[in-house]
Formats: sequence, structure tokens, C-alpha cells
Amino acid sequence: MDFRYTAEEEAFRQEVRDFFDQELPPGFLGVDPGPEEESRSQEYRQLGLSMWRKSGDRNYLGLTWPKEYGGRGASVWMEAIFMQEAAYRGAPVMDMAPASAELILQFGTEEQKRRFVVPIARGQVKWATGMSEPNAGTDTFNIQLKAVEEADGYVLNGQKIWTSNAHHADYLMVFSRTDPNKHMGLTAIVVDARSPGITMRQIAQPTGIPAFCEVFFDNVKVPRDNVIGQKNGGMHLLLHAFGIERSYGLLTIYNAQRYLEQLIQYARETMVDGQPLCQDPLVRSRLAQLAIDIEVCMNLGHELNWLAANGQPTVKASAQIKILGGQTCQRVGNVGMQIMGLYGPLDEESKWARIGGRIKHTYISALSFTLAGGTTETSKNHVAGREGLGLPKQV
Ligand SMILES: Cc1cc2nc3c(=O)[nH]c(=O)nc-3n(C[C@H](O)[C@H](O)[C@H](O)COP(=O)(O)OP(=O)(O)OC[C@H]3O[C@@H](n4cnc5c(N)ncnc54)[C@H](O)[C@@H]3O)c2cc1C
Repeated sequence: MDFRYTAEEEAFRQEVRDFFDQELPPGFLGVDPGPEEESRSQEYRQLGLSMWRKSGDRNYLGLTWPKEYGGRGASVWMEAIFMQEAAYRGAPVMDMAPASAELILQFGTEEQKRRFVVPIARGQVKWATGMSEPNAGTDTFNIQLKAVEEADGYVLNGQKIWTSNAHHADYLMVFSRTDPNKHMGLTAIVVDARSPGITMRQIAQPTGIPAFCEVFFDNVKVPRDNVIGQKNGGMHLLLHAFGIERSYGLLTIYNAQRYLEQLIQYARETMVDGQPLCQDPLVRSRLAQLAIDIEVCMNLGHELNWLAANGQPTVKASAQIKILGGQTCQRVGNVGMQIMGLYGPLDEESKWARIGGRIKHTYISALSFTLAGGTTETSKNHVAGREGLGLPKQV
């Protein structure tokens, strides 16, 4: 198998590398320092917004989207290259809208594509996705956010939870219940995040960073032409959205690759009892196992990109990546902690911190990778299903 990219793709990779080298501060750690470091955390968020806009200016945000909706009409491989380079550096540019845009491109009207997708592609707006509720995470059939149709649109009442970055968002793509009598009676609706009746409460992630929100809807009015797809057809979009989110599992691997390189460097440079740490057989074996795990994930990633580039079904491949990618990142955190011993849990501001205190952050944040975008159990169910083992649907 030939995994090499074309000359044009390699030239694009260089262009993207130059962009990140120019825009990211030297030694950028890719980690929000969190509320205890408020001014630096603020700087991190500002950087994210500015990178988002600049990526839009350069037409990087909707690489595969059609040109008439602000995209570049480029290949899946070009998009993969941008994602790889961004993920490797931990550049804060990827989580502010693409899933919503892809849903609108696939299921929206011509008018919605122009109204919503073009500003996303230009980096002018940020979006968040509201699927989960306190009693509806995996069990999306239990979504209760109520949308009642009235003469001039819909009125929303209820709650979402774990909505990533909702407090920075201009728009929310929410999945709401429009038919209380049918468990499939869900509808996808775009809500202006500053509509009267919306309140948000931030929730801290285990890292301490309040990147999630609870979002409350109290008689929130939404125009009818903000419904994406068919009324009561939202379950179809929801499954599609999970498919998109699962493929983000691939991104975590490029970040893991960078951590592995830093751990290798650490093992080369750190002396223990007069010997470099990399002479320790256990350390070598753990690093080697990580390298194997990461390479497996990258090969699965090539397969996923190939399937997408050739219009083939991607449910099984993206579920595999989601499972193994998340688990591998957790192993990177674990191995990092084992190798670094007492240095592992130190934060960046400690004078004794190594690798910029990033291992502690990975160790904690990777815990969520087997939950976000669908849990490992859900993803395994997809591998067990039609595209994978061919088992009948779970009842
Ligand atoms: C970092 C992060 C970001 C997130 N961002 C968003 C976001 O932007 N928008 C949003 O809407 N949500 C978001 N979520 C929420 C995420 O989608 C849910 O956490 C996820 O769907 C699981 O739902 P839950 O937490 O309610 O767990 P539950 O569904 O209660 O699951 C608990 C456990 O039970 C298992 N389980 C449940 N049902 C079954 C079953 N039928 N068979 C076998 N095992 C089962 C699950 O696999 C899991 O291990 C985010 C979560 C994280 C961690």
C-alpha cells in the first residue's frame, strides 16, 4: 500500500505548517491554562478566536465544502492534512462549528446553506451542538427539550447539558422533541445563542476548564425557517452528527504522536542513577508499545480517509478510530505519568515541570475521549452492526 501524498498535497502541508509556525506562539502548549490562570486562559481563548478567523480567511475551515458556500472544494486528503497539522500542535481551531456546517450542507435548504454555512467557512461565527440532556446522553430517544410549533415558528422549553463551548457560541444546533408521542419525533433547529429566554451555566471539566455548559430554554422563540431537514426527521441528522464526531477521534492521535515524541526526548535526556532513562527496558518497552498503538490508529485513519474520499460507508471505520484513538491517548497519559514519576503531576508553572506540564493535562483530559461524541460502548455497537460484524440491530 502506498500512503504517500501527492506533490500538491505535500505543498499544501507546507503551507499549513508555515501558517501555524507564523500564528502560534513559540513553544505553544495547546492547553488552556484554566481559571486559576485567568489572564493566560483569556489569552488562550483570544488566540483560538483569532486562529479561527484567520483559518477562515485562508479558506481552511471548509476545505471540502463547495466553493459557493465558502468552501475550497478540496479533497478529503487536504482536509486530513490540515486537521493533522492542527491536531499535532494542539492548535485551537477545530471545535467551533464544522459538525453543524456539515449537517446543514447535507440536509439544509439552499437559503440555509448561504445564511449559515458561508459565515462559518469565513470564521465569522462559532457554533455549539446541543444533543445531550441530563437523562439523554447515549439514550437520545429520550431527548425532552420541547419545541412547540406556533403560527410564526417554534417555542423551545427545556434543558441541554455538556454543550461544549456554548458560552462562546453565536448559534446552537439543538435536537428537540416535536412529537411527544413518537420516540423518533425529534427535530434539528438552529437557535441564536443570544435569544431571549436562554441562560447558560458553565461546568468545569476534570481539568478545571469550564468548557461545557448547561443551557436552559425558557419560551425561546425560533423562526420556522431555522428547522434543518424535516420536522420529526431529526434522529436521522443526529446519527449523522455522531458519525462526524466519531471521526474526530482521529485527531487526538496526531496530538498523541507529539506527546510520544516529547516523551522519547525526555527519556533520552533524563539521567537516573547515572544512566539515561531510555536505557531502562521497561521505559523502552512502554514507549515502543505507544508507538505501535499510534501507528495502528494512523493506519486506521488512512483507511477512514480513503473510504470518505471514495464515497464508501464510514460508520465502522470512524467508530474503530474513536475507540482506539481515545484509549491510546489515555495510555499516553498513563505511560507519561509512569515514566516521569513525581514530575508527571506538576503543572506548567512549577519550576520542576517537564514537557511544559502537559502530561498531567493529557492524563486528565484523555479520560473524556472515550465518552465525548458517543461512548466506547456505543461505538462498539456500531462495529458490531451492519457495516462491521453484520449483527442484527440491538433491541
Ligand atoms: C469532552 C466532552 C464533550 C462533550 N461535548 C458535547 C457537546 O458539545 N454537545 C452534547 O450534546 N454533548 C456533549 N458531550 C456529552 C456526550 O455526548 C455524552 O457524555 C455521551 O453521549 C454519553 O452520555 P452520558 O454522559 O449521559 O452517559 P450515559 O449515556 O448515561 O452512559 C453512561 C455509561 O453507560 C453506558 N451505556 C449507556 N447505554 C448503554 C447501552 N445501551 N449499552 C451499553 N452501555 C451503555 C455508556 O456507554 C457509558 O459508559 C460531551 C461529553 C464530553 C465528555
